[in-house]
Amino acid sequence: MSPEEAAATLAEIAYLLRHKGDSHRARAFSRVATTMLRDRPDVQALRAAGGLETIDGVGATIARILAELVDTGTSTYLDKLREELKQPELTDKELALSPLVEMGYRGDLHAHTDWSDGHASITEMALAAKSRGYEYLAITDHSPRITVVNGLGPERLAAQRRMIDAANQELEGITVLQGIEVDILEDGTLDLPDETLAALDLVIASPHVKLRMEPAAMTERMLLAVRHPHVDIVGHPTGRRPGSRPGAEYDFAQVFREAAAHGVVMEIDCDPARMDLSPELAALAASCGCRLSLDSDAHAPDQLVYVDLGVWMARRAGVETDRLVNWLRLPELREVFA
Ligand SMILES: [Zn+2]
Ligand SMILES: [Zn+2]
Repeated sequence: MSPEEAAATLAEIAYLLRHKGDSHRARAFSRVATTMLRDRPDVQALRAAGGLETIDGVGATIARILAELVDTGTSTYLDKLREELKQPELTDKELALSPLVEMGYRGDLHAHTDWSDGHASITEMALAAKSRGYEYLAITDHSPRITVVNGLGPERLAAQRRMIDAANQELEGITVLQGIEVDILEDGTLDLPDETLAALDLVIASPHVKLRMEPAAMTERMLLAVRHPHVDIVGHPTGRRPGSRPGAEYDFAQVFREAAAHGVVMEIDCDPARMDLSPELAALAASCGCRLSLDSDAHAPDQLVYVDLGVWMARRAGVETDRLVNWLRLPELREVFA
């Protein structure tokens, strides 16, 4: 039992707990999963020494679950949750070690810095991405609409571009891309002028507000967004927060088909508080011909591990790596987003 495998189990438990409405307990499980990915404790040795509770955030309940995982490779607690929430059994094929982990995830396309509501600098985020072995990291701070996050307008984006160029000069072994997470406004237009968007390496368009629109109007709003010539990715496409906020409802198949026709990628946002698209909708997006991206939406360096937590969702969705843009090398990625 590797710390990654244990963390994946804890992350799935957290996800299901959120669906049950137990977000308090879910947070405790997510926190430990994140810690395990970051610190990679030797769970086998800790189990043998009776020291599982020395892992940060692990109390008696999680220690018991980890002990069972180390001893048997399974968790009756997770099995019970899956049954309770009617999650189908994974087949043997799905249970095989994920090719996503082994086959070369190359970079994260959704991350924030202290230019908006992130907690670290461009360089700190880039170094964290580099130490994870990535080839590239896209910095995608917020647009101005949501004032509480200190979003970037054209002038600050130009200034940030200069900082990113300087960081790329300094750093070796990692390329920082400049993107934006631009708001999809109520009428489906975007929160920044076209010429500003055109100057960026990639554009994520995300719904953040007015998610409870009538499905027909929401469908029109999302269709307009995916038809926008500068949009590359739709970020957390429903805006849901499992356990606390339902996502937007719209004609998913119609929007996904339109996205596929325009080469727009749909995101699986791996932030444990979002997990959006869900595996079910990700599977639908793939069947409609969309590519997907598996991103952390990190607001701090240690949150880049969210992608490790989200890998199981792509696996459950049955999404192959050739559909995931994060598996592309940088030149291919630039072509896709050109
Ligand atoms: Zn967002
Ligand atoms: Zn974001």
